[in-house]
Amino acid sequence: MALKTEAQYIESLRKLNTKVYLMGEKIDNWVDHPMIRPSIDCVAMTHKLAEDPQYTDLMTTKSHLTGKTINRFTHIHQSTDDLIKKVKMLRLLGQKTASCFQRCVGMDAFNAVYSTTFEIDEKYGTEYHKRFKKYLEFVQENDLVVDGAMTDPKGDRGLPPHKQADKDMFMHVVEKRADGIVVRGSKAHQTGCINSQEHLIMPTMAMGEDDKEYAISFSIESDAEGIFMIYGRQSCDTRKMEDPDSIDVGNPKYGGQEALVVFDDVFIPNERVFMCEEYEFATMMVERFAGYHRESYGGCKVGVGDVVIGAAALAAEYNGAQKASHIKDKLIEMTHLNETLYCCGIACSAEGWKTKAGNYQIDLLLANVCKQNVTRFPYEIVRLAEDIAGGLMVTMPSHKDFHSTVKAGKGDKTIGDWCNKYFAGNANVSTEDRMKVLRFLENICLGAAAVGYRTESMHGAGSPQAQRIMISRQGNTEMKKGLAKDIIGIKK
Ligand code: SF4
Ligand code: FE
Repeated sequence: MALKTEAQYIESLRKLNTKVYLMGEKIDNWVDHPMIRPSIDCVAMTHKLAEDPQYTDLMTTKSHLTGKTINRFTHIHQSTDDLIKKVKMLRLLGQKTASCFQRCVGMDAFNAVYSTTFEIDEKYGTEYHKRFKKYLEFVQENDLVVDGAMTDPKGDRGLPPHKQADKDMFMHVVEKRADGIVVRGSKAHQTGCINSQEHLIMPTMAMGEDDKEYAISFSIESDAEGIFMIYGRQSCDTRKMEDPDSIDVGNPKYGGQEALVVFDDVFIPNERVFMCEEYEFATMMVERFAGYHRESYGGCKVGVGDVVIGAAALAAEYNGAQKASHIKDKLIEMTHLNETLYCCGIACSAEGWKTKAGNYQIDLLLANVCKQNVTRFPYEIVRLAEDIAGGLMVTMPSHKDFHSTVKAGKGDKTIGDWCNKYFAGNANVSTEDRMKVLRFLENICLGAAAVGYRTESMHGAGSPQAQRIMISRQGNTEMKKGLAKDIIGIKK
């Protein structure tokens, strides 16, 4: 089997014994939990679209290892065309879910670990790359969802890993055995970790020699002995616990997911270890993974942006304001900002380059510019969406009020009748449809989906300052000074 169906994916999660805690309790049937299920269905879309013939070219490709058809989410990019298709695939997924669909972190980790292990082996004669290719074959053959895990909790940000008061603030090796290593630590705000069958761990930042026990990369099953996950809260998340058909949820079908993944002394067999103490390669792995994931945002957030623009245009229409010139102009501005992000995602892919291992890496400067723009433009897009939607987006009564049969007033009218009367807009549109659009916008601007569209745009794939450091490193100011000197006629 090289492609899993949507149903097979969900069934595979049921077979795992992943330990999940939510709001202080252990959740045994987490697959069907109303707060978790939308995030599972969102990942399932990566399988569902791969089955759809109209998306075959974007969603699937041939494995460079086996020649078999695989889901592109498990692919090692063989060309700049592959990188461009990846961005287009992520835009498509964003359009279909209006959410973070979580699977990209694994794909980005595969590609970073693939090229870095090759270069570690080249220097030390180790066999990490061979091991990783074998692991990748297993992932591709079983169409696995893998959490690419980088972010450690980091404790005191002013101290390196080995100087932390609590050594577990960074994932580290606590024991070396002949057949493997034992690791301890955690990975914080891990996107899609519960919905993944596997985890691929990478170091979180540059490491010095004193930090070598923290310079580790490995893979492990989600339900391995010693691993458990504590679910992260999202704004308004308990709305998902209300009536599943309630329009108050905003996005009734899909959502994102983050959790803290704790490794309480976990054994990793040697064949799953891809870096162990080669601290000088931590930077390469981090920069390559971050570069890929900053490219990713030029696809996924653009797809979600498409839905936000569409919802804002619908809200204007349902309010009867679609012909106002300032509304048209705001929609133009939203489109301009959204397509600028897409330009960045495509550009850093088109300018990609071949690594020593043979796979393609994005242009680092352009990927960092892409993500830096993502830390800003979605905020402006939601500001304009809120402007167009109007204040009703945050003041309207609940779904239950619109459907209430309780009588109110002097005649026979119910609460539902009053709501439907006073919240009507364009006469050609039902009041309920108008409310649905506003609730969706509320969800994406301020509710659970704002995690994926706003704050994740700020901090996901690295906070803004991380990109500014990379832009300063890659910007080549010295070369530019030379250009100016040449033209002005300054010799030295
Ligand atoms: Fe994928 Fe975007 Fe979510 Fe990252 S933020 S996992 S790129 S959908
Ligand atoms: Fe993310």
